[in-house]
Amino acid sequence: MVEAMLGITVFGCGYVGLVTGACLAQLGHDVCCYDSDATRIWKLQNLEMPFYEPGLGALVANQFQAGRLRFTDRPDNALEGADIAFIAVGTPFGPTGEADLTYVRQAARDIARSAGGPLIVVNKSTVPVKTADFVERMLKMYGDGFHRFAVASNPEFLREGSAVSDFLHPDRIVVGSDDETAIAVMRELYASFNCPVHVVDVRTAEMIKYAANAFLATKVSFINEIANICAAVSADIDGVLAGIGADARIGRAYLEPGLGFGGSCLPKDVAALGTVARQHAIEPTMLEATLSVNRRQIGVCVRLIEDGVGDLLDVPIAVAGIAFKGGTDDVRESPAVMLVEALLTRGARVCIQDPYALKAARARLHDRVTYADSVEEACVGARVLVIANNDPRFALLDWNAVASVLEGNAIVDLRNRLDPAAVQAAGLRYAGIGRSRQKVKA
Ligand code: NAD
Repeated sequence: MVEAMLGITVFGCGYVGLVTGACLAQLGHDVCCYDSDATRIWKLQNLEMPFYEPGLGALVANQFQAGRLRFTDRPDNALEGADIAFIAVGTPFGPTGEADLTYVRQAARDIARSAGGPLIVVNKSTVPVKTADFVERMLKMYGDGFHRFAVASNPEFLREGSAVSDFLHPDRIVVGSDDETAIAVMRELYASFNCPVHVVDVRTAEMIKYAANAFLATKVSFINEIANICAAVSADIDGVLAGIGADARIGRAYLEPGLGFGGSCLPKDVAALGTVARQHAIEPTMLEATLSVNRRQIGVCVRLIEDGVGDLLDVPIAVAGIAFKGGTDDVRESPAVMLVEALLTRGARVCIQDPYALKAARARLHDRVTYADSVEEACVGARVLVIANNDPRFALLDWNAVASVLEGNAIVDLRNRLDPAAVQAAGLRYAGIGRSRQKVKA
């Protein structure tokens, strides 16, 4: 528990906002979460989670029942007694790749109109450099001129699937502000966290988040390109990874060959940073390459499936893992969904399975695919099983059970998470991304 309890308001009850609110309540603060989606608030007041995130449901229920976490659909209610207002609303793709700041603008306007006292307004949404300046202007424009606002940037680095633990145990916390009071209060807020707090100016903080996501995305595209070259020259990506990963300057983290990056952050943030660069007459060559390799990877994976079963017209295909990664129900910019779309375009008949994301997948794919409750059920009569995300339970499948229902015998592992020997021991053929043909028997 914290020494000094702060009044916290969070604008936006999505993956970031709800996790932020619930975790800060757990630390002992008095938290109110507001969302412009009244249905979402009604559900949360009834302890119904709007999305799947491990551990979040129990945390929200505990803090709600302890009286430290409230939900409201009225911004003025939300800001009663607040010391800090976090903006954690979405910043989706704009029409030409820039970040769409519509929701940030709305949140800043509502905060300005509803604040009942001096307030530190903290941007947790991922936003382009200079957004804090823009928020400050909005606060001045819509405020009554009586209450003092200070603006800070506090980018969030949590990952869906481990968001609660990531929030509570971050590698570092970044606070950007040019206001001494805001910096002091943010230091106090995070005083109990056991990690370095980087205090920088506000534009640097905004840039740190984009640079971090651009670098992570670049790592994914880099290793995919290397894996594709490995496949072409019959080298083994696992051996390459072990060899380069042993170099302390390189390491292993986030170097995972596969279907490419997706989700609600990396694709849009790399594109948005590219737009910022162009606005300042800088050609974002690296960022463009990162995005272009990522787009191309879907085609590489389709060809790997075609290598296994030939022409895809009318071929029944089971796809396991439809969320953009394992452990979440988020299908936004999911490469697995893009892969399914590509398979459907080639005339394949697709049946999908995902431990958490079937509902979200239905909203995207409707009746163009069929849905199964288990991977084995999806495999019944299929010619090939495609593993499309990194959910750890796919590596634990009973391959004899899979072999007994699969009509064909091909397993295409688009995340390199399976043990080829275990798959082959069940009489199945295995193909991964850039994994050696010597290790993987044809
Ligand atoms: P989300 O889409 O899950 O949630 C956004 C929420 O904001 C929605 O519930 C929406 O109804 C609400 N909202 C929109 N306008 C509002 C307004 N004016 N007032 C109050 N609520 C409003 O988004 P998310 O995934 O939580 O992401 C939020 C931000 O955090 C984005 O900028 C994202 O890039 C960034 N981020 C996301 C992650 C992640 O893993 N999802 C990680 C780090 C940073």
